[in-house]
Amino acid sequence: MLDAVRAAIRDVPDFPRPGVVFKDITPILAEPRLFKQVIDALADRWRGERVQKIIGIESRGFVFAAPLAYSLGAGLTIVRKPGKLPWRTIREAYALEYGEAVLELHEDAFQPGERVLVVDDVLATGGTAEAAGRLVERQRAELVGYSFLVNLAFLGGSARLGAAKVHSLLRF
Ligand code: AMP
Repeated sequence: MLDAVRAAIRDVPDFPRPGVVFKDITPILAEPRLFKQVIDALADRWRGERVQKIIGIESRGFVFAAPLAYSLGAGLTIVRKPGKLPWRTIREAYALEYGEAVLELHEDAFQPGERVLVVDDVLATGGTAEAAGRLVERQRAELVGYSFLVNLAFLGGSARLGAAKVHSLLRF
């Protein structure tokens, strides 16, 4: 089944910039059997870890975070790019290849000690996930781990995620 998921991911060269091979996961979403298998497999890794909240990263992370939260019986919260969240926020800046990016989270997203899982579609250099993890820890919630559909392992992103558990269905 993972072979079918892997085969459905479309490589788009030079998107969004020259030199990047973009992993387009939309064909998985469009195929009900594959989408269900992916969510079931992602959720199975975290059953028994008592995840209380999932945090989805804008924007493709939302697509996996919501069904994962539903499947695990967890709550859902979201981190977004600046200026998108309506309530008071905390923010984390992180370095990109050129310049800087910022993620924001509602300041009351988590209770202290709440067990939180960070979800995104693709782990690349790890900067985005690392920033989301810092937002979780700043609210004194407990970071259970990170869940990805795809780990671009040649970029070494998981090394930036410290001692937390990192799970992905597929490595490239
Ligand atoms: P990074 O901070 O480098 O780990 O980048 C992760 C974020 O960028 C994730 O939200 C991914 O959706 C997106 N991303 C980075 N590189 C790729 C890629 N080659 N294909 C698809 N998405 C990517």
